[in-house]
Amino acid sequence: MRILVINCGSSSIKYQVVDSEGGEVLLGGVTERVDTLAGGHAEALAGILKEASKHEPQAVGHRVVHGGLAFSAAALIDATVEEAIRNCIPLAPLHNPANLAGIQAAREALPGLPQVAVFDTAFHARMPNRARSYAIPRELASEHGIVRYGFHGSSHACVAERAATYLGRPLSELRIVSCHLGNGASVCAIEYGTSVETSMGMTPLEGLVMGTRCGDLDPGAVLKLCGTLGVEETDSLLNRKSGLAGVSGLGNDMRDLEAKAAEGHDGARLAIKVFAHRVRKYIGAYAAVMGGVDAVILTGGIGQNSASMRQRILQRLEFLGVKIEIFANNDARPSEATQVVDISAPNASARALVVATNEELTIARETSCLATPDEPIADLAIPIAISGRHLHLDRETMDLLFGKGAELEVYREISQPGQFAAKQKVNLVGPRNRIDGVRVLGPLRPKNQIEVSRTDEYKLGVDAPIRGSGKVEGSAPIVLEGPMGTVELSEGLVCARRHIHMTPEDAEQFGVKAGDEVEVAVNGGPRDLTFGDVLVRVKSSYLLEMHIDTDEANAAELSKGAEGDLIYSPAGSGVRGCLQKHAGS
Ligand code: AMP
Repeated sequence: MRILVINCGSSSIKYQVVDSEGGEVLLGGVTERVDTLAGGHAEALAGILKEASKHEPQAVGHRVVHGGLAFSAAALIDATVEEAIRNCIPLAPLHNPANLAGIQAAREALPGLPQVAVFDTAFHARMPNRARSYAIPRELASEHGIVRYGFHGSSHACVAERAATYLGRPLSELRIVSCHLGNGASVCAIEYGTSVETSMGMTPLEGLVMGTRCGDLDPGAVLKLCGTLGVEETDSLLNRKSGLAGVSGLGNDMRDLEAKAAEGHDGARLAIKVFAHRVRKYIGAYAAVMGGVDAVILTGGIGQNSASMRQRILQRLEFLGVKIEIFANNDARPSEATQVVDISAPNASARALVVATNEELTIARETSCLATPDEPIADLAIPIAISGRHLHLDRETMDLLFGKGAELEVYREISQPGQFAAKQKVNLVGPRNRIDGVRVLGPLRPKNQIEVSRTDEYKLGVDAPIRGSGKVEGSAPIVLEGPMGTVELSEGLVCARRHIHMTPEDAEQFGVKAGDEVEVAVNGGPRDLTFGDVLVRVKSSYLLEMHIDTDEANAAELSKGAEGDLIYSPAGSGVRGCLQKHAGS
């Protein structure tokens, strides 16, 4: 599909007409200093749209900086969406009005074409509350929208997908730290396909050192500066005169700073060191957030082009399994032809990848997804099974809890073939409280996996990550008490990720594949609910069934025998769904 991508900034407008399937760019350009034109954005856009229309675009994709909490995915623009973008102006006073100007001009110049808004913030919409919240009074935070939104979503989504394709593994199996290092810079922790932390916050000012933005700064220092310089001057100082430019006393271009540093310029040297240190610090922190890391991605103008900066950042990360091969790093030149270059040493357990980002193509693909009519979905109801807390044990833990060589005894068969609820039960002991009599499911497994609900977590006093079955690496610790012994597990406690078991035939009927995330709607009861982020699992021995926990079932007022409808459609599935549709292309 030919998509016109418009990135309407406060002072410049970038545009492309791009083929969303092959990525071929039919037209591309930048109009600078738009704010100085007599007719402003409208004048510049009129010229761009005239030129673009010669290439007969079929839809228009707009980069929109701030979607606030209103958008967790790209959206087909109508009056309601436009109004919601307008409501986010206080959060992005320079950018959102420019984005709206682009939308309005495109609608007038190309009437009848679908227009799609792709938000920088949407990729981070599923961040857990603990990462999203700042430690200020909650009422104030909610009144003023002071939470972490995160930005650079299209870039982080693009490079994570490219890395997963390169590694030949689904995103749902990877823990990635993505470092977008350009004039603007941010790090994102992408745990099994979801952004769980990111360094930019309520505004793009937080986090890494950037070209002219300061990144992290003690709020006490901000108060002091405001007291001395006033709010406006402080804003300008921190946004436009700080970062690499401020520390070096030179400019914001990393190439110049590297050249000056080589000549011995103190300011340039310090700026480079502070920049690299900050990124390295975040990589370590985000590996801790995810309980480990499978790949570190470097992208953006600096990440893709500066071998010396990559080496500075990635040194001394061997403890995380990250180790680079110096020559591979020096030679890395990712491009649209070679999108990913692996610079890891052969013995590294985590991959270091230099990845070419392409935000425009990501926007084009999102736009094409939304502008294409929904795919038909099989008329097949999905039975819903509600799982209470339970656990799976490995042989060693079974021996310790129930005595050497003890075997699980069948209490009753459960729905998935070959699985059973055992007679044996175990007590869970957390730092806060205990839950006794938790049923073991058989047969034994290679790894312990203890599945509890969020409510159980509060009772126990633990924080467990949401995980798919078998993904227990880096999960939460727990103490198990059995009749013959007590075992302290360093990991294994999870909150189960909701999922659907299905056969390959079911998958074909639904038009989905293993690893897809879909939505399942439950209608007709007193608390209708659509479950998003439902993972598809496919195996010929499976029985069609969606598994949710007791909290999730209570939220929808479900009981035994409930059914749901798969309402996945590429157009409604958000950034990840759309990207998955295109994975490998
Ligand atoms: P971006 O905002 O992604 O276009 O990145 C801009 C930044 O990338 C600027 O700081 C550039 O100096 C930097 N950059 C581009 N090419 C190189 C290079 N070969 N070496 C070092 N930095 C570079």
